[in-house]
Amino acid sequence: MLSYPLCKNKFEIKIMTDEAFDVMVVGSCMTDLVSQALRLPKAGETIHGHKFFIGFGGKGANQCIQAARLGAKTAMVCKVGKDFFGDNYIQNFKDNAVHIDFVRQTSDAATGAASIIVNSAGENAIVIVAGANMLLGSAELQEALPAISHAKVLVCQLEISPQTSLQALRMAQENKVKTIFNPAPAIPDLDTGFYTASDVFCCNETEAELLTGSSVGNVEEAHRAGQELLKRGCGSLIITLGPLGCVVLEAPQSISKHVPTPAVTAVDTTGAGDSFIGALAFYMAHYPTMPLEEMARRANQVAGVSVQADGTQTSYPFRKELPAELF
Ligand code: ADP
Repeated sequence: MLSYPLCKNKFEIKIMTDEAFDVMVVGSCMTDLVSQALRLPKAGETIHGHKFFIGFGGKGANQCIQAARLGAKTAMVCKVGKDFFGDNYIQNFKDNAVHIDFVRQTSDAATGAASIIVNSAGENAIVIVAGANMLLGSAELQEALPAISHAKVLVCQLEISPQTSLQALRMAQENKVKTIFNPAPAIPDLDTGFYTASDVFCCNETEAELLTGSSVGNVEEAHRAGQELLKRGCGSLIITLGPLGCVVLEAPQSISKHVPTPAVTAVDTTGAGDSFIGALAFYMAHYPTMPLEEMARRANQVAGVSVQADGTQTSYPFRKELPAELF
């Protein structure tokens, strides 16, 4: 049981009696509206599709839900609309045992949505409207600060306003909370503050390419990109490489290690990177002394399970479905 001598607000009084959160995620929620059709419509055209479904997405929420399914005590700091999709998303958090104390609803924008059309070749056309996600700001972070400052790990991405992400990372860093930053979707000329505020900077090959301006198509190139990104000031760096696993580098040695992943038959790799990051956050919170390379090896296996089923969050494994040696 933790105790905190100075209680500044209602939440702080509450966490005097509760354990602090293992993982807090400051990030996005998106509702995926997916239509499957033989082909993509042309401008001005209406066509019939054969299947429609609604999925829960958004990088922040995905990562939080994967960490929760592994057994982390999680809280999400996010903003959704005061609408059907927002209500639905809050229920989804409850169903996954994610704390919703810092999920805010606004009437000023709709819940973030991705309208996705997929054709029979598996190609897609996507329109993302970030909506309420972009209204998450400083005021909501201040409300969450008592919890953030006592969390074990804080995770941020770039599907909300970059200033909000950077402020959250700095808040965590000032309170000696471990940080994971996932620069996705990547933006060129990323503020160097994101690197220095990251204990672990974790990106995929496409993001590493955009950030370095060099090709990252194989393990050798990932080692080189990793060395360059690590120099920008993060504590450690991971570049995920799909079926090749990932590379891991830690300052100050900056030796780049390849962590391969077992071969599996992938049916849908959507959200694999978020499964990896959610798992990494879980391991950092539960096994703080475990070498990062071992955490990455285990996170590879969790994400490897997620690619063997359809959908995003629907494919994320629960602790009870995974081998005991991962825990
Ligand atoms: P993103 O989803 O961001 O593009 P990656 O494709 O690099 O990220 O995948 C993240 C992680 O998911 C990989 O490091 C790996 O552990 C796992 N993964 C992804 N694709 C496969 C695959 N085809 N086979 C096995 N594991 C995979």
